Amino acid sequence: MARPEQVVIIGCGAIGASIAYKLSQSASLQVTVLEANSQAGQGATGASLGVLMAACSQKATGDLVTLRLASLRLYEQLIPQLERQTGLSIPNCAGILCLSQKIGSESKWQSLIGKRQQQGFDLQFFDRDHVRSKYPFLSAQSALYSPSDRALHPSMLVQALVKAATLNGAKFIYDHPVDRLADIPDADKIVITAGLGSDRLRQSLDLDLDRPSNLLAPVGGQAILVELPDLSLNAVIHAEAANGEDINIVPLGFDRYWIGATVEFEPDTLPRTSNISLLLDKAIEFCPAFAKAKIIETWAGYRPRPVSQRSPILGFLPSHPNVSIATGHYRNGVLMAPITAEIINDLILKGESDRPWQGFALKS
Ligand SMILES: Cc1cc2nc3c(=O)[nH]c(=O)nc-3n(C[C@H](O)[C@H](O)[C@H](O)COP(=O)(O)OP(=O)(O)OC[C@H]3O[C@@H](n4cnc5c(N)ncnc54)[C@H](O)[C@@H]3O)c2cc1C
Repeated sequence: MARPEQVVIIGCGAIGASIAYKLSQSASLQVTVLEANSQAGQGATGASLGVLMAACSQKATGDLVTLRLASLRLYEQLIPQLERQTGLSIPNCAGILCLSQKIGSESKWQSLIGKRQQQGFDLQFFDRDHVRSKYPFLSAQSALYSPSDRALHPSMLVQALVKAATLNGAKFIYDHPVDRLADIPDADKIVITAGLGSDRLRQSLDLDLDRPSNLLAPVGGQAILVELPDLSLNAVIHAEAANGEDINIVPLGFDRYWIGATVEFEPDTLPRTSNISLLLDKAIEFCPAFAKAKIIETWAGYRPRPVSQRSPILGFLPSHPNVSIATGHYRNGVLMAPITAEIINDLILKGESDRPWQGFALKS
């Protein structure tokens, strides 16, 4: 029998763990994941709110929309499959209610509803009076409800992926920062999923370049956990303020909610206290009851955002056909983890994928 191909994945956030799980299902591959931290999911994934917003996101068509919708669909099977296989529960909440303070959004949303219907997703439009009668504790000019979008607990997702991949035979090695790709000579194939650490790894292959350019830049995000008794909010809220800025409110059960996240391009150290009131103010604008919320915890993380190409970055490294990369998912890495895993699985096993990934390939 042929020796299984050795695949080494560097980085164990939502992307690395999802790819490890997918690849671990193939008998022809032996998967090893090297993670710099002492546990999985401590990078951007650990800061994420896990909102999977694809059907109600405003862009109607295009290859990115196709991938996001496909990823959302993959979660419908992935969550119960992981729960069954591992015995772990992945807390998740189906349905996103998008609120808008803009007047006259109906025609824009009606056109999105039509497009999504053709793509197999149901969306419902609520005018101001409907919002008021159905959700008396919310304040908005209009709303769009998407039953297929959802939120899930990102750290629990990663735990379940790691456990399921381990049961399938994958190995996870923690406290193992990789400095240079040349340090792992035994691998037949390498997958870089190191989030913001991916730049350094890619550059370790381009030592002959004077100044290898950066692929990614960090974009900060701050979020809070609050407690608010007696609010019967059981859908995820995505709220867009009149100035275009948005927030998500994720119900966690037991009167607790995550609220986030800020989008911060300046390199200040986070978390910043001023952002806590900013997030709460936005939540109060749409749900005045949050004025009485008690803040339990605040945190911040850094999203990996591509500098000079579209998000995400997927495919082989130019001139290095045995090294692939899956990073730069910016604000949607948890949403896009299953489809990313499927594409990388196709590329590793067949050298090609039917999914529209080429537009995200790394430019040489
Ligand atoms: C506040 C906030 C809220 C967010 N909310 C959402 C949301 O609601 N929905 C959504 O879809 N996305 C959200 N995101 C974005 C999402 O978190 C990211 O897109 C996603 O987590 C990226 O996953 P990743 O696996 O690529 O990176 P990471 O989670 O950062 O994982 C990379 C891993 O690689 C490891 N690593 C790095 N360098 C090395 C090395 N040299 N050797 C070994 N290991 C290495 C790191 O330790 C880390 O564990 C949010 C992000 C933030 C910050």
